[in-house]
Amino acid sequence: MTSDAGVHSYSAVLMGSPILLKLFEDNPTLASQVFRLIKQQENLFTVNRAESEVMAINQAAGRHPVVVSAPVFALISVAHAVSILPDSAFNFTIGPVVKRWKIGFRGREVPPAAEIEALLRLTDPHQVVLDAEQRSVFLPLPGMEIDLGAIAKGYIADVVQAFLRQQGVAQALINLGGNVQTLGSPPHQPQGWGIGLKKPFGRDDELLGTLQVQGKSVVTSGIYERYFERDGRCWHHIFDPRTGYPLDNELLSVTVIADRSLDGDIYTTLLYGMGAEQGLAYLAGQPEIDAVFVTRDRQIICSPARHFRFSQLDFSWQLRH
Ligand code: ADP
Ligand code: MG
Ligand code: MG
Repeated sequence: MTSDAGVHSYSAVLMGSPILLKLFEDNPTLASQVFRLIKQQENLFTVNRAESEVMAINQAAGRHPVVVSAPVFALISVAHAVSILPDSAFNFTIGPVVKRWKIGFRGREVPPAAEIEALLRLTDPHQVVLDAEQRSVFLPLPGMEIDLGAIAKGYIADVVQAFLRQQGVAQALINLGGNVQTLGSPPHQPQGWGIGLKKPFGRDDELLGTLQVQGKSVVTSGIYERYFERDGRCWHHIFDPRTGYPLDNELLSVTVIADRSLDGDIYTTLLYGMGAEQGLAYLAGQPEIDAVFVTRDRQIICSPARHFRFSQLDFSWQLRH
């Protein structure tokens, strides 16, 4: 725990990321309750360990449906709905492709095209059978795998926010690594929380600017988070479900500002697939969602800022509104 100007910061390493909690009271008991809650939630959704409800579904692929808890069924239902949107870049059955590329893990490599082609047949979200009455999930093809890696953190950030609220906390910030969720504003800072927008491939303290938000979630997905380089290309961990290869467009990162971190997660992936221009046009019809696109040609493109303010820090990048 560290304290600075009334802020009490608590940290832990969970879900493979450093986690940061900021409170405005000295309350280590509350902090450990939050960390325990995150751990519990992670245990429901992870696919990187032997046992979780999602793993149980994956292990029964091609054999039988699996009954899951209400929260897992609810999150899978949301993931399914987003995955079957026309031309969606989000696909919660991308698991076999993600596992094969092993990005961020030992043994990563560019798989042979024929193998990717074959794995794509296992990533059809329309084939998943959801039974709301039984609360069961069935993957009909052997080898199919659900991967909630793109949305689990967002869901958990929202669970933490609800828990803190329920505990009477009005001002706090939780950072799950890529997902920041806030409550209110810091004391005496009516303009809100300042959340750094990282310079892609830069050091942790190198920022393009700061996003100011109040009670919002800020979610960033970037190709520089987990990647490897081979054959002069950057192979990263956000896949195009239509090709089985990492998404290849002009974007380096997408940041979404929304009430719910789950929405932030969903929209970062959807917008990644659309690219900046189409993404901006799409957001015109989504008044609750804002986004900042960072492009390879060094532009920072903000959607019409309704729910945040952006202060630029690195002027070697071009800001567009
Ligand atoms: P992180 O927060 O770990 O950086 P992101 O939020 O950027 O992760 O999401 C990347 C993760 O989402 C991948 O590691 C993988 O588990 C999953 N994923 C990758 N591509 C897709 C996709 N097209 N649709 C849904 N999930 C995906
Ligand atoms: Mg994420
Ligand atoms: Mg994401």
